[in-house]
Amino acid sequence: MTNCKTATDADGVRPVPDAHEALERTCPNCGADMHSQSCKLRCPRCGYYKSCSDF
Ligand SMILES: [Zn+2]
Repeated sequence: MTNCKTATDADGVRPVPDAHEALERTCPNCGADMHSQSCKLRCPRCGYYKSCSDF
């Protein structure tokens, strides 16, 4: 069985934790899930947005 070794390798090459990316995509104003639009994130609920230079 090499399943154990494969799982370890996959976990080692992950560049960024999923939790961090989820936090960046959450609207700080209302907490809704923001949508990426070209080079900025926009909130569909309250209209808040931030450009890529902000993060
Ligand atoms: Zn919002």
